[in-house]
Amino acid sequence: MKKLFIKTHGCQMNFYDSEKMVDLLKPHGYQLNNNVEDADIIVLNTCHIREKAVEKTYSELGRIRDKIALRKEKTGKDSIVAVAGCVAQAQGKEIMRRSPWVDIVVGPQSFQNLPELIAKVDPIKKNKHVDINFPVIPKFDQLNHEVRDRGPSAFLTIQEGCDKFCTFCVVPYTRGAEYSRPVKSIIDEAKKLIDAGVKEITLLGQNVNAWNANGPNKKKWGLGRLIAELAKIKDLEFIRYTTSHPLDMDLDLIEAHRDIEKLMPYLHLPLQSGSDNILKLMNRKHTTKQYLKVIEKVRHYKPDIAISGDFIIGFPGESSRDHESTINVINEVQYSQAYSFKYSIRPGTPAAIYYNHVDEKVKSSRLQEIQEILREQQMRFNKNSIGSTLKVLVLKHGKKNGQYLGRSPFNQSIYFNSEELNLIGSTVDIDVTEAFQNSLTGKMKINKCI
Ligand code: SAM
Ligand code: SF4
Repeated sequence: MKKLFIKTHGCQMNFYDSEKMVDLLKPHGYQLNNNVEDADIIVLNTCHIREKAVEKTYSELGRIRDKIALRKEKTGKDSIVAVAGCVAQAQGKEIMRRSPWVDIVVGPQSFQNLPELIAKVDPIKKNKHVDINFPVIPKFDQLNHEVRDRGPSAFLTIQEGCDKFCTFCVVPYTRGAEYSRPVKSIIDEAKKLIDAGVKEITLLGQNVNAWNANGPNKKKWGLGRLIAELAKIKDLEFIRYTTSHPLDMDLDLIEAHRDIEKLMPYLHLPLQSGSDNILKLMNRKHTTKQYLKVIEKVRHYKPDIAISGDFIIGFPGESSRDHESTINVINEVQYSQAYSFKYSIRPGTPAAIYYNHVDEKVKSSRLQEIQEILREQQMRFNKNSIGSTLKVLVLKHGKKNGQYLGRSPFNQSIYFNSEELNLIGSTVDIDVTEAFQNSLTGKMKINKCI
């Protein structure tokens, strides 16, 4: 077997893609290996969402160059270096120019071609291969869906790309147009994951709730209907989905939260800003009132649902009044957890050339203020769990002896102790005893159900 090392940056979709690359390369004799110094092929799966993503990619590639040079010196062996993901898509041939030791550049919509690209690499000729096409035949049709052992929880991408064009976001340019996978291909992959021992599936998409496709009866299905179908799979115990857009939360999906027990009571619904002026400049296509209406409706159907969100702080033109509006909405919603980021320029997006950028210091102080409020809300949400009994999927061992880590229905990490040797993949009832900022602790009830 040849050794494959993959480093993944960014969102769950990138992690899913990396898993797929491992599955894809396995029949070609590549096995996953944790040691970059010893790898025959190194894949850097990059993310363009975070600040300075491009510079970070080049410095990471610098470190990889040193590692492969050392390997060559010690063993005489060549390593193949491939850059994948959204920075690969955005930078293309520029990566080869700035990092000539890279052999392959492959975009998120063409990594299914990796085996062919690898086969073409000739260490003597030092030939380069760039594939950043958006193929006509959808990538998923060409991917090998044989799955390896994934552990109790796995991702499953059902939707990719985006047609919404928020002015701050690179996704429509790096991942391409909105695409929904067909029902059959999703169900087949879900069944394979379950056969491999998976108990929880998180459905992924840049706008996962925009997913739609024809059902077997040729009727249009939305995400709610798909979840109902997936819930029929025996041994699939927990279903989650992320990330959703407020405009795509239809009644079918909201009702699914009430009706489908396997669908977890957790909704990640980014707002980005609580000011309608800023939402307009962001081209989000909804107002704060519409967002709050969706939350109200979801809570009407599923009163205990945990709501999480994303916020961009200091978008160009954001005034202190806009900032106050964001705080007001956050206080109204009461999040169980949320992500907040300072706005940062993504070259090529419309907001990058807006003239009224917010001063960095102002952005930092606004971010600090908002994160403090979000932290308080998360702590309050976690404290409210004390005294309750939660159905928990056991994910892995904790760092301490006899300790396990699991996930609560509300997406909280929960630690507990047990002398039982292999609980991973089991569902256990945990009485919550303590709450912390990012986790809970509890005691396992005796009536373990496997
Ligand atoms: N599709 C989701 C939505 O519409 O809300 C969001 C997906 S986006 C890929 C993930 C998150 O990255 C966004 O919710 C946003 O908060 C953050 N993000 C994207 N572009 C950003 C930028 N230029 N500056 C700061 N944060 C950004
Ligand atoms: Fe990016 Fe989400 Fe807006 Fe699409 S809807 S452009 S993925 S932020």
